[in-house]
Amino acid sequence: MIYDLFIIGGGINGCGIARDATGRGLKVFLAEQGDLASGTSSASTKLIHGGLRYLEHYEFRLVREALIEREVLLKAAPHIIWPLRFVLPHHQGLRPWPILRLGLFLYDHLGGRKILPPTRSVDLRTDVTGRPLKDEFTRGYEYSDCWVEDARMVVLNARAAAGKGADIRTRTKCASARRIDGAWELTTAADGGAEEKIRAKVLINAAGPWVSQVLGAVVGRNDPDRIRMVKGSHLVVDKLYDHDRCYIFQNADGRICFAIPCEQNFTLIGTTDEDHKGDPGSPRISDAETDYLLAAVSEYFKRPVTREQVRWAYSGIRPLYDDGASKAQEATRDYVLKLDHPEGGAPLLSVFGGKITTFRKLAESAMEKIEPFFPQMGKPWTATAPLPGGDFPYDGAERLIAEMARAYSFLKPNVVRRMFRAYGTDAEKIFDGARFAADMGKSFGPLTEREIEWLRGEEWVRSADDILWRRSKLGLHMTREEQEALRGYFAGVQTMDLQRAGG
Ligand SMILES: Cc1cc2nc3c(=O)[nH]c(=O)nc-3n(C[C@H](O)[C@H](O)[C@H](O)COP(=O)(O)OP(=O)(O)OC[C@H]3O[C@@H](n4cnc5c(N)ncnc54)[C@H](O)[C@@H]3O)c2cc1C
Repeated sequence: MIYDLFIIGGGINGCGIARDATGRGLKVFLAEQGDLASGTSSASTKLIHGGLRYLEHYEFRLVREALIEREVLLKAAPHIIWPLRFVLPHHQGLRPWPILRLGLFLYDHLGGRKILPPTRSVDLRTDVTGRPLKDEFTRGYEYSDCWVEDARMVVLNARAAAGKGADIRTRTKCASARRIDGAWELTTAADGGAEEKIRAKVLINAAGPWVSQVLGAVVGRNDPDRIRMVKGSHLVVDKLYDHDRCYIFQNADGRICFAIPCEQNFTLIGTTDEDHKGDPGSPRISDAETDYLLAAVSEYFKRPVTREQVRWAYSGIRPLYDDGASKAQEATRDYVLKLDHPEGGAPLLSVFGGKITTFRKLAESAMEKIEPFFPQMGKPWTATAPLPGGDFPYDGAERLIAEMARAYSFLKPNVVRRMFRAYGTDAEKIFDGARFAADMGKSFGPLTEREIEWLRGEEWVRSADDILWRRSKLGLHMTREEQEALRGYFAGVQTMDLQRAGG
């Protein structure tokens, strides 16, 4: 048996390519060394955005593509994506008002905005968004972008791919890849040590921050293309204000910083841009980054934001294409696909860069690059196809949440809301005829056994942390005891799985 594609990496780019390719009839194997989205794809600012700031770096191609993608993705996954409004206060010492106006005019008109409301100017002396800000900020602009549950976007792509026949293996590292007789021979090593040999016609290296490491250590190239690893960190603090709008603040160093309502009780603050050297696994926020973020938002909020308000922090590594820019914040955010196809040897396509926002277009470009090797391959199809659970109108979430809350009135309304926002119409499959709370099985605070079993069976969940910090952010809401009980549950099911495997 030979696969058409072997994909290294279960982040947004690997899973996006897997989904697109299986839909075009290719046989796909995807290996992810950890959990899905355990790399950069769960550590983003969680915006489907054009990237207002990239206009200053003349990245018009990227911004236009990303602006168009906002509404394409909103329609494909309206359960995990929703519109946001951002307030950009004018700062006397920083970018002049006409520059802000020009930037936002371009942002509104570069492409694709049909659903999202346009920019408007706001009088911060009277508007509710001015209340938490210092009095010196008197006017600003308000514009649109979208929120995305980044790690869930990855999983939905993996589910869509698996639904069309892709073999998705998590906790499975691609240990070596060799060109033999015009094809690839790959060795995978699963957690626990089991090795497997796989053959494939084309290899896709979508290893994100590990992309150069894979070219060197796995593929065995002496001169791997380089990426620029740029660390970005976020703080999650106790809710800073009571309205639903976000802020985009300008910093004196030319960067920007977001404050975004998240998970009902919190505000997300980010991000930083720091060159990163060494291993990309498990990056951590530094004290300097924490101070930087707290100072950046305290420049604007009346009440300074302090370390005592910090509830959680996370960091990720941007795998940017190394274009030789001097500052980390100036390195291109656009993606680059490199095809390596030596005479008589099997092709290798490597992915450098790429945003969550542009994953679908990146996958289409990847398909174009490999089309010559699969002339029978299907045409582009993802622009109008819903992701799992997203088969409802983009503005229909509230109506469906209300219907579900009525149908399953034994569940707390906020649990129904959370589950709809995670699974969309698939939430029905988890409830599956339940009539009483007890039908949902054991409960762990807001989480029930039914949901855990769905996550184990359909979403490759293997540990409590996969649920607490990636499939959901319940780690912010569940008590220590509830989290311990969940860990105990996983220890129990793993023992049972091992016993079953042992006969
Ligand atoms: C701080 C920050 C904020 C961001 N904010 C946004 C935002 O708001 N909006 C937006 O659109 N984008 C944002 N991005 C960009 C976006 O998150 C990334 O570009 C994107 O997630 C990269 O996805 P990826 O699939 O290439 O990499 P990853 O998600 O890192 O996936 C690569 C995977 O490959 C696996 N892997 C590596 N080596 C092997 C191997 N040998 N075998 C098997 N598996 C392997 C890794 O475990 C990893 O899971 C942000 C990025 C950062 C860092």
